Amino acid sequence: MADLHTVAVIGGGVVGVSCALMLAREGHVVTLVEEGRVGHGCSWGNGAQYNAGSALPIAYPGVMWRALRWFADTDGPVRLSPRELPRTLPWLVRFLRTGRLEAWEAAYAALHTLNQPCAALYRDMLGDADWERLFRPNGALHVWRDVSLGALDKLVDSLRSRHGVAFERLNAEQLRELEPGLSREYKRGIFFPASGHVTSPPALVEGLMNRAAALGVSVRTARVQAIEPGTEGVTLLTSTGPHRCDRVIIAAGIASRDLACSLGISLSLASERGYHITMPGTSGVISRPVTDAASAFVATPLDEGLRIVGIAEFDAPDAPRDTKQNKKLQAYARAMLPDISISQVTDWMGVRPSTPDSLPIIGPHPKHAGILFATGHGHMGISGAPMTAAIISDLVAGRAPRISTAPYRLR
Ligand SMILES: Cc1cc2nc3c(=O)[nH]c(=O)nc-3n(C[C@H](O)[C@H](O)[C@H](O)COP(=O)(O)OP(=O)(O)OC[C@H]3O[C@@H](n4cnc5c(N)ncnc54)[C@H](O)[C@@H]3O)c2cc1C
Repeated sequence: MADLHTVAVIGGGVVGVSCALMLAREGHVVTLVEEGRVGHGCSWGNGAQYNAGSALPIAYPGVMWRALRWFADTDGPVRLSPRELPRTLPWLVRFLRTGRLEAWEAAYAALHTLNQPCAALYRDMLGDADWERLFRPNGALHVWRDVSLGALDKLVDSLRSRHGVAFERLNAEQLRELEPGLSREYKRGIFFPASGHVTSPPALVEGLMNRAAALGVSVRTARVQAIEPGTEGVTLLTSTGPHRCDRVIIAAGIASRDLACSLGISLSLASERGYHITMPGTSGVISRPVTDAASAFVATPLDEGLRIVGIAEFDAPDAPRDTKQNKKLQAYARAMLPDISISQVTDWMGVRPSTPDSLPIIGPHPKHAGILFATGHGHMGISGAPMTAAIISDLVAGRAPRISTAPYRLR
C-alpha cells in the first residue's frame, strides 16, 4: 500500500475539488484551502460542456490570420488590453508556435488523451445516481454559416479520425432535424455523439465536494499568502494562520501564476477572461451545446437557463468588466436562435487560466517534489479535471502516472 500523506489542495474549483476527491479516495488526509466559496471561481459560470476528444487546441495552422482579424474587429470575440500587453506578448508568441502543424497535432493528441475519458471518470467519482442527475450525454454540435469545407476542415477530420473520435458531418437539413430552433443561416455542422454537458456547473462542483466531504476532506476558508517548502513537508502561510502538510497541490486557477512566481517559477498562463449571459426559462430551445465556430461562442441549455458563453479578453484578472460584452453575447444569441425572446438576462465574467498550447500544467515543482501544480485548463476545465486529478493521485502515491505526463510538464 502507498504511503499516506497530509495533503493541502489550494483552490476549490472543479480542478482542486476533483484532486481532493481522488486523493481522499486513496486514504490521504486532505484539506481544501479556498479563499472564497468552493466552486465560485471560473468553474461557476462556464459553458458546462464536456468533450470526449472533440476539442482542438485553440491555436491551429493559420491561426495568425484569424487572430489578426479578431484583434482588429471591435465587435469580434477577442480583445487584448494594452495594460496586459507586456505579460501577454511572450504568451502570444508561444501560442502562434503551437499553430504550426506538428506542434498542433502533438497538442491535440495530448488533449485527447486527457479529455476523452472524462465522462467515465466523473461517473466513477460521483457514483451513478449523481452522474445521471448532473450529466446530459446528448452530444455536442458545431455549426457554420458557410457551405464549403476548407483545407483545415479536412485536416481536422483526419486528425479526429486517427484518434478514434466519433463525429458526423451534417448538412443544413440534418442540422434542423437535430436542433429545430437554429437559424436557417447555418448551412453545415458536425455532431459529436460522445460529448455532452452538465446541467449546472456549480452543481457539478457541489456534487464532487459532497463526495469529497463524505470521504473526510475538510475545507479551510483562508487565502494562501505564501508557500514555504521545508525539509519535512510544506507550510502554507494563510490569512488564518499557518497550515503544515506533507504535500501541496496548487490548483488555484489563474492565481496559480502568482503562487508559482513566489516559488521561483514563471508559468506561461494568460488571464483569458470570458463572459456569459444566462436567460432563465429559455433552455428548451436547444438540447445540447451548440458552438458557432466562426464567432467562437457556445449556447448551452442549463438548469439556470439558456447560457451563451464566449469572448477571449486578455486583461488583468481584477480589471473592471467590459459592459459591452453582454450586448455582444445577446446579439450572438439572437443570430443563432432567432425565435428566442430575451427578457431577463444575468451576466458574469470569469478568468480562464490559459496556456499557449491549450494543455494544462500537471506535475511537481522541479526543486520541491512535495509541491505539485494542477492548473492551466483554459477553455476545458470540466473535461480535463478528472484525468488531472487521477495523475495527481498517482504522483502523490509515488506510482508511475497512468498516462505519460510529458506534455503537461511545467513550462
Ligand atoms: C465564459 C467561460 C466559458 C467556459 N466554458 C467551459 C466549458 O463549456 N467547458 C469547460 O470544460 N470549461 C469551460 N470553461 C473553462 C473552465 O471554466 C475552467 O477551465 C475551469 O473552471 C478552471 O477551473 P480551476 O479549478 O482551475 O479554477 P477556478 O474555478 O477559478 O478555481 C480556483 C479557485 O482557487 C481559489 N484561489 C485562488 N487563489 C487562492 C489563494 N491564494 N488561496 C486560496 N484560494 C485561492 C479561487 O477562489 C477559486 O475558487 C469556460 C470558462 C469561461 C470563462
